[in-house]
Amino acid sequence: LTEIKTLRALYIAGEIKPALAANIKYKTSGNLLDRVSLYQGTITELEVDAIVNAANRSLLGGGGVDGAIHRAAGRQLLAECRKLGGCPTGDAKITNGYNLPAKHVIHTVGPVYDEEQVDKSAKLLASCYRRSLELAVQNSLKHVAFPSISTGLYGYPVKDATDIAINEVRQFLDSESGTKLDRVIFVVWGDEDKLAYERLLPIYFPLD
Ligand code: ADP
Repeated sequence: LTEIKTLRALYIAGEIKPALAANIKYKTSGNLLDRVSLYQGTITELEVDAIVNAANRSLLGGGGVDGAIHRAAGRQLLAECRKLGGCPTGDAKITNGYNLPAKHVIHTVGPVYDEEQVDKSAKLLASCYRRSLELAVQNSLKHVAFPSISTGLYGYPVKDATDIAINEVRQFLDSESGTKLDRVIFVVWGDEDKLAYERLLPIYFPLD
C-alpha cells in the first residue's frame, strides 16, 4: 500500500491542485486527506483489505473489471459467488479474495444508466458506495479500493458518476462508522476517469 499516495501527498507533489478555500463549500478536517487516495492501474494488483467489484446481479462474473477480478482471483471465487444467490442493484456482498493480493472482494451491483430516470440511477449508484463501505466496517476492514462503478459497460456518464462516488465516500468518512476506516482508494483505469477524479477530489476534500 505504501506506493499509493494519499490525497495530501498528491497535493504536495502537485499532481492534484488543491481547491482554494474561498471556492469550496465543504470543509474537511486535515486528517481526511490522509485517508483518501487516487490510483491509476488495475485494481487486481492492490494489496488491501478489500477491493470492490463492479459486478452484475448474478454475481457470476462478466466483462470489464468483474472479468479481471475473477481471472486474477481464480475459480474458487466463482464457487463462493455461486452460493450467494445473486445481489440486488445498489446492494453489496462480500467474499474472500483467494489468489488476489486483496483479502476480500466486496461485490456491488451498479445501475445500468437510465437517462429517463437519472435520480433513480444516482440513488442506486450512491447506495453501492455506501453499502460497500458499511460491509467493510461490519467486517472490520480498514482499507477499501473502489473502481469507477457503472462507468464502463453500464454507461454512467463519467463526470456524474465520479461526483456521486466522491460525495458518498466523503459523507461516509465524516460519519461515525467512517472513523473505523483507515483508507479509501479510488482506482481509475482510463485517463477520462482520472481527470474527473483530479477535478472533483479537491472540491470534496479541500485543504483546510
Ligand atoms: P460496469 O458494468 O459497472 O460499468 P465495467 O467493469 O464495465 O463496470 O467498468 C467500470 C470501470 O472499471 C470502468 O471505468 C472501467 O474502465 C474500469 N476498469 C476496467 N478494468 C479495470 C481494472 N482491471 N481495474 C480497475 N478498473 C477497471
